[in-house]
Amino acid sequence: GATIGILGGGQLGRMLSVAAARLGLRTHIYEPGSNPPAADVAHAVTTAPYDDVKALTAFANSVDLVTYEFENIPTEALDIIEAITPIHPNRRALGTSQDRLVEKNFLQDIGLKVAPFADITNDASLESAIASIGTPAILKTRRFGYDGKGQSRLNTSQDAATALADMAGAPAILEGFVNFSIEISIIAARNPQGQVACYDPGENIHRDGILHTTTVPATIPSRLRTDAVLLAAKILNTLEYVGVMGVELFVTPQGLIVNEIAPRVHNSGHWTQNGCAVDQFEQHIRAIAGWPLGDGGRHSDVVMENLIGADMDKVPALAKEPNCAVHLYGKVETKAGRKMGHVNRIKS
Ligand code: ATP
Ligand code: MG
Ligand code: MG
Repeated sequence: GATIGILGGGQLGRMLSVAAARLGLRTHIYEPGSNPPAADVAHAVTTAPYDDVKALTAFANSVDLVTYEFENIPTEALDIIEAITPIHPNRRALGTSQDRLVEKNFLQDIGLKVAPFADITNDASLESAIASIGTPAILKTRRFGYDGKGQSRLNTSQDAATALADMAGAPAILEGFVNFSIEISIIAARNPQGQVACYDPGENIHRDGILHTTTVPATIPSRLRTDAVLLAAKILNTLEYVGVMGVELFVTPQGLIVNEIAPRVHNSGHWTQNGCAVDQFEQHIRAIAGWPLGDGGRHSDVVMENLIGADMDKVPALAKEPNCAVHLYGKVETKAGRKMGHVNRIKS
């Protein structure tokens, strides 16, 4: 069987490795950090930084193709790998999702709705952006933000100076605040043959900037369910995307507004492990390996709940709950704010 290289050895790399193994495939993890959760279940692990040309070259030569579990891979590392073996999803998809300004322009250019936004480079551009977008607004770093990090809320224009200082010179965008009723996400997949499959959108609740629960089905009319599928397919087809993507959406009276896209398996898609015959991890492996996709059908309603930090203390009680599947990532250290595992509660 083929060997799939995975950049990043966190929980997503771990669950991708398990899915690959079930399909008779091997994974080779590349991860700079020690004790990566994926190491327990992968066939091979390289522990080296992303600027180690020798290690990257050997890694790329040992696999048939490369995928990744996070967006912030240095361009130089990707150049070295891509000279040797294909990367899925492709570089354009990765580049688009790495930078909020590029991402917003892309989404707008293909006719999708996004929050009003502006490129912020200094005090003057922030001032004029506030004048046109208004407040409340959110200042976000263009790159490297996750779990709400690198963001600053502007309730009035007086907050501008402090918000910009918080960015510490990092390139940023200002986004108008979207008055959404709920947040949903759609997990979509596309294979090299152009087949597209979507899961039912999930309804997401965040706590302290981190995903807390995903509930499927989301409380949305079927019209919006269709809109979500169509816009996800448009994004994937335009990018000639291969793999699974998470698309985060705001539900508003004016319809769906795209918040951001993630070119990988997504935390809000973990429910598929116990709600679908083919979950998002198997779907991603199928897509990048050129297999037919699972159809995205759902056999059960599910509520996924993340186990963050001290939530680990709840595991003994969760293990006794009926219809509750426990997924733990085998992380060596429990830290506040760290994703340690999740549970999927089957509702019907
Ligand atoms: P993730 O961990 O999902 O990658 P992130 O750090 O990239 O998160 P965003 O998804 O951009 O951050 O924002 C985090 C949360 O902040 C959103 O899920 C939403 O609740 C809120 N938010 C972000 N942008 C807006 C906006 N323009 N209007 C209203 N709320 C917003
Ligand atoms: Mg994000
Ligand atoms: Mg987000």
